[in-house]
Amino acid sequence: MPTSDGAGVRLTRYIGSPQLDTLDPFLMLDFFESDDPDDYIAGFPSHPHRGFETVTYMLAGRVRHEDSVGHTGVIEAGGIQWMTAGRGIIHSEMPEQESGRLAGFQLWVNLPASQKMVSPAYQEFPAHQVPQEVRANEATIRVITGQTSLGATGPVHDIVTDPLYLDVTVNKRSTFEEPIPETHNGFIFVIDGTLLIESHHSNSAQSVTRRQLAVLGEGDRLVAHTSDVAARFLLVAGRPIGEPVARYGPFVMNTQDEVQQAMHDYQSGLF
Ligand code: FE
Repeated sequence: MPTSDGAGVRLTRYIGSPQLDTLDPFLMLDFFESDDPDDYIAGFPSHPHRGFETVTYMLAGRVRHEDSVGHTGVIEAGGIQWMTAGRGIIHSEMPEQESGRLAGFQLWVNLPASQKMVSPAYQEFPAHQVPQEVRANEATIRVITGQTSLGATGPVHDIVTDPLYLDVTVNKRSTFEEPIPETHNGFIFVIDGTLLIESHHSNSAQSVTRRQLAVLGEGDRLVAHTSDVAARFLLVAGRPIGEPVARYGPFVMNTQDEVQQAMHDYQSGLF
């Protein structure tokens, strides 16, 4: 769903849209990409979050992050910021450039009731701290969080939903196969190229192409093939929380009362 958010940033919402409201524990996935500064320059000025985690992964360009208690940093291409908003944070996310290409993702990952009011925390890693696993002539995998079947482990750790977040490039005429815990919900987002995903239930394969998101069905592994062009995609999975979700804008709690409390706390300057 094409939309805009913040002070007028154009983006495409994949999760948190009419077609896919939520994919427990994932509440939202936005993809933004433009080389026109009018699409992004307004950025996301000061705004609050409570009750979940925001995950920013940049493909191109730079975003400056600042919060109300003095934490600041710049997320650059290939870099990741996993922010646990917990009981509350007020921050801004602004492009650190006035021209050129800006592209990336923001994923919202829910927290269980027991963790919604934890102290805010950050895990931030520039591109060179994201390990890259190269599989013989087949695929290259950047591991942001979780562990691959060959043992590469992402720097983001101790996330309560035990997520897997991989940025995978599969060479042309190759196959990528990776186990995913059966307990997890997962999706792929194709950044470039086309993938043929093997079906658990039949001998058929489903084609997923550039800028499409596909929700993975039941099973314990992803098997994806390429044909005449290489493909790059995100593979993201996490353990569902299975609790009621009450959300209003940047507040995601279990009950409406807790959302009201979050709004009250924010307006009272308690974040
Ligand atoms: Fe934010």
